[in-house]
Amino acid sequence: MGDVLDHYVDGKPWSGTSDRLSPVYDPARGVVTKEVRLASPADVSTAVTAATAALTEWSRTSIAARQNVMFRFRELLTARRDELAAILTAEHGKVLADAAGEIARGLEVVDLALSMPHLAKGEFSQNASTGVDVYTVTEPVGVVAIITPFNFPAMVPLWFFPLAVAAGNTVVLKPSEKDPSASNWLAELMVEAGLPPGVLNVVHGDKDAVDALLTHPDVAAVSFVGSTPIAKHVYTVATGEGKRVQALGGAKNHMLVLPDADLDLAADAAINAGFGSAGERCMAVSVVMAVESIADQLVSRIRDRMGGLRIGDGRTGNDMGPLITGAHRDRVGDYIDVAGRDGATVVVDGRSVSADGDPAGFWLGPTLLDDVPLTSAAYRDEIFGPVLSVVRVDGFAEAIAIINSSPYGNGTAIFTNDGGAARRFQQEVQVGMIGINVPIPVPVAYHSFGGWKASLFGDSKAYGKAGYAFYTREKAVTSRWLDPSHGGINLGFPQNT
Ligand code: NAD
Repeated sequence: MGDVLDHYVDGKPWSGTSDRLSPVYDPARGVVTKEVRLASPADVSTAVTAATAALTEWSRTSIAARQNVMFRFRELLTARRDELAAILTAEHGKVLADAAGEIARGLEVVDLALSMPHLAKGEFSQNASTGVDVYTVTEPVGVVAIITPFNFPAMVPLWFFPLAVAAGNTVVLKPSEKDPSASNWLAELMVEAGLPPGVLNVVHGDKDAVDALLTHPDVAAVSFVGSTPIAKHVYTVATGEGKRVQALGGAKNHMLVLPDADLDLAADAAINAGFGSAGERCMAVSVVMAVESIADQLVSRIRDRMGGLRIGDGRTGNDMGPLITGAHRDRVGDYIDVAGRDGATVVVDGRSVSADGDPAGFWLGPTLLDDVPLTSAAYRDEIFGPVLSVVRVDGFAEAIAIINSSPYGNGTAIFTNDGGAARRFQQEVQVGMIGINVPIPVPVAYHSFGGWKASLFGDSKAYGKAGYAFYTREKAVTSRWLDPSHGGINLGFPQNT
């Protein structure tokens, strides 16, 4: 057992007052490498007080000065990205190449935050009425709580805090207690880049810490990412407290393969999107819908490719790492039995994998299920592991009906060479992010990220213009400076003449 990870409040590590701790594992070795503090509501309050105290000065700091901090942060993060990738692999388990990709996608949002001078430009209507100008300005919302999941310990915090901070807010970040170190590392780097203490604080914890943030009167807005039941809880509680909330939830993403598709391209895509990061991605493809006429061919091409995947320690050049915990690995593995009992064909059973790593690691190999009934929990539930289900369909209309009957609406993809079919697919699916021959359609930072239905509670997506709007509120100003030639007293309403 190693160190204890502290909170990071007011520009320095802080141990808080709670004596509750939670273990942090190296999932590839199955050992506890450190413990993390679990904040009490009083600890959360201390962090919110630090953020509140920093707010007035930071929100009045010029855009140019805030930009300078973000530019320096970008330089430091770019130079030291390997250090962060090593932390991600050590605590999450994802392979180093995937950790590097996560950081690259996070850096895109830092780049977006660097366009703050443009995002923050208001609107101006000159002479809206005679001698009257109307303009809209935006101001930061205040103290923002950011609560993030285990599966992207750097990218998801980076979806939010660069924009929130660059827009003049102060932040309390509550990362997943399963892989918490990346958040401290990022907050320390922001301070090294020149961010004043108290602007970006990190508290670690579980439900106690989250609920304290949701109900704290000085928290103005909440950005949450996690599973659907918790997203719904966060949305319900925090909106009940009058806060602005965006709560991104779970997913079950379908990939439709039409008979005219390039089946090799589709099989590669299914492998990448189904098993990358061990399937622990909210945009992972977990269901391949194959039109019956090509289903056998597609299943055999996916199965053949699975044989070439190297499963093992993310530090030693493998393709796929372990799952986050032993308990999660067992839960995911149980779905293989569930699917078999419900009538699916288990084409590849990942429980027999031989991994290139410590036998105590939380291993589960890529798993392929065919003919999965829509009534099976293996189809219905978000499994969040390397289990790819194939559902066979008669054609396009049945596929659309299945996608639209899902309670989730995060991502979906179509593989086809028919532009008309792709266009109809894009128009008819009730899903927030759509890929056309692209299996994981995570939008670039200047478009916004977010699903529909049970994949997002609240009206605001993450990053892009929506992200900026979420972290600011508008003031509309109507002003009249009387000209020396004004007509004297007039008690009437302006008549817009
Ligand atoms: P989770 O819901 O268990 O945890 C998310 C956060 O909520 C963590 O910070 C955790 O400490 C906190 N939390 C957990 N239980 C809580 C409770 N009872 N009350 C209050 N707070 C609680 O999610 P996870 O397992 O860390 O992450 C995986 C989930 O996140 C998957 O469902 C995945 O689809 C989803 N996810 C969604 C997106 C998206 O953009 N829609 C992105 C990444 C992950």
